[in-house]
Amino acid sequence: KTKHTASTRAESIQADHFALTHPDRIFWPDIGLTKLGLAEFYAEISDWILPHIVNRPLSLLRCPNGIEGERFFQKHAWAGMDDAIQRHEMNGEELISIRDIDGLIALVQAGALEIHPWGSTLDKLEQPDRITFDLDPDEGLDWQDVVAAAFEVKDRLAALKLESFVKTSGGKGLHVAVPITPKRQWDEVKSFTKGFVERMAKDSPERYTASIAKRSRAGRIFVDYLRNGRGATAVAAYSTRARAGAPVSTPVAWDELRHGVRPSQFTAENFVRRIGVRMNNPWDGFDDVSSLRWKGENVRSE
Ligand code: ATP
Ligand code: MN
Ligand code: MN
Repeated sequence: KTKHTASTRAESIQADHFALTHPDRIFWPDIGLTKLGLAEFYAEISDWILPHIVNRPLSLLRCPNGIEGERFFQKHAWAGMDDAIQRHEMNGEELISIRDIDGLIALVQAGALEIHPWGSTLDKLEQPDRITFDLDPDEGLDWQDVVAAAFEVKDRLAALKLESFVKTSGGKGLHVAVPITPKRQWDEVKSFTKGFVERMAKDSPERYTASIAKRSRAGRIFVDYLRNGRGATAVAAYSTRARAGAPVSTPVAWDELRHGVRPSQFTAENFVRRIGVRMNNPWDGFDDVSSLRWKGENVRSE
């Protein structure tokens, strides 16, 4: 179980091991966080983030001049891309991925301030191995409503014998993630999640909606299942967000959530302290719940 323990590789990054150009470039002016600072953060937590991003197609939010400069989503290789980032030609489309910390640092070098992986791996591109329910609250809703929604998703999944894990988005909401056996096609998985959310909305129409339309979201939580389509992404666990304060999409224990975690409380700046306080990864076991993994048998019963 060594792969989930915190490591301290920040020192090796100071040495010339990782070649960063412009290490002092400021990515988050509001807190003065630099390119080197971001690389140090990722080096520190590499054992935690890498299992969620390696060998998966990636979509990057690149902000070469920091959060206040130009930004663009990048899904394909680019001219001058570092060798530590792989380019693939698969099923008629071009994809990019990384396989290790060198790849991760190359993403930092490229100004990728957010890392968004697919819910499937390159080995089984067409069969997702994780589901994400993305809870998007309408403005004005209480945080407690979002927390309650996450617990409701968890309980409904548990009734299907599925174990789920929760993280802050680093934005306004929460993401509930479910490891599944990579066996069903994207279409089947998406329709399972659609049915799941439609049932939730039917049972509590005053609280939830399965529709992305603005009007139906008024005063409700949009339980966004659209992250589960082929080519869709959700921000990676432990990725930073390109917004003020450098919030991190942070896995939390369900108990922690119950006791008052806030969405923007975890940042690249204060994260190392969190590792010190709680050495264990709240998502330990994410890859070990195969006995409970959804294999598709519940599709039709939903
Ligand atoms: P919040 O909690 O504020 O909703 P979020 O990351 O869940 O944060 P959403 O707008 O709900 O933000 O989007 C969910 C996911 O959809 C993102 O994490 C991202 O992976 C993907 N996404 C959103 N917009 C784009 C885009 N323009 N291009 C590519 N992917 C996107
Ligand atoms: Mn969201
Ligand atoms: Mn969403």
